[in-house]
Amino acid sequence: MFKSFIRKVHSNIVWPFLPNGIYCFNYHRIGDMNKSPFDPNVFSCTEELFEKHIQFYNDTFCVISVDDLINIINKNEFIHKKYALITFDDGYIDNYSIAFPILKKYCTPAAFFIATNHLDSPGIPWWDEIAWIIRHSKVALIKFCDWNEAIDISTGTITLNIRTILKKIKQDKMRSMEDKIKELENICQSKMTDNARDTKLFMDWEQVKEMSESRMHIGSHTLSHNILSHLSKKQQNEEIVLSKKRIEEKLGIKVTSFAYPVGGKAAFTEDSKLLVEQANYELAFSFIPGIISNLNKKERYQYKRLPVDNNCSISQLRQIIVKHK
Ligand SMILES: [Zn+2]
Repeated sequence: MFKSFIRKVHSNIVWPFLPNGIYCFNYHRIGDMNKSPFDPNVFSCTEELFEKHIQFYNDTFCVISVDDLINIINKNEFIHKKYALITFDDGYIDNYSIAFPILKKYCTPAAFFIATNHLDSPGIPWWDEIAWIIRHSKVALIKFCDWNEAIDISTGTITLNIRTILKKIKQDKMRSMEDKIKELENICQSKMTDNARDTKLFMDWEQVKEMSESRMHIGSHTLSHNILSHLSKKQQNEEIVLSKKRIEEKLGIKVTSFAYPVGGKAAFTEDSKLLVEQANYELAFSFIPGIISNLNKKERYQYKRLPVDNNCSISQLRQIIVKHK
């Protein structure tokens, strides 16, 4: 309580002195995390809060699109303002049904990074499947063969337990995600039902096309959403090149931007950055927290973003901005 009060006071004092730069905000899902049978951690905020966030960005920043950013980079312009750039990863259906109408209402541009396999062969992505299995676990203690300690899901919140288990699963580079899901099914004695598997979680091409034609920016988030640093160079290249080609084919646009799946420091390599550049993307976004204050070539393929999650209020959003400025 006292700590959060101090954080609030601190952010109010520092706020007027925020540096110029590009404040790139990253969302995943919009909606009520408590109503989802899948991963609650991918919900950034509710619909009501999202509308407040958009009003806040428009009141506080000069909101730009990825195309505006590319123009600023190409003109070698000095960043003399506080810009905001709104991005969404993964292409969940609520990006179209909830976020898009609000963005249109406020004439606010945003960028959507899609993993094309999610549109071509709709299904449930690995993190949502893992969350579903954990939610339906028949046992309380979850322990993979290579873990030192078990995680007790009968204590703490389900949101936190899912986050902890997903984090550990993501760290294991040795086995395929398929194998890890099989092991989890065995441990939890639960397997996703066909009914759950039929849920429409992602947008379809028609919806993405409608957004693209309404001046929303569409970028690539690979084919499969596999973590690039876990793949061979050849596999990485396929993910980077073929997803771009697929979006261009389906939407009739030039794809200029890329976002690394998962996106933390460990999720991509120097090779990944080079392959993205060689595939003729103009820029790429990471999920490393921070603001973009330097548009030089070195940074261009790993721009930082500010994570928006956990239903954050405007006051918490201000604290995130101040923390990473
Ligand atoms: Zn993603």
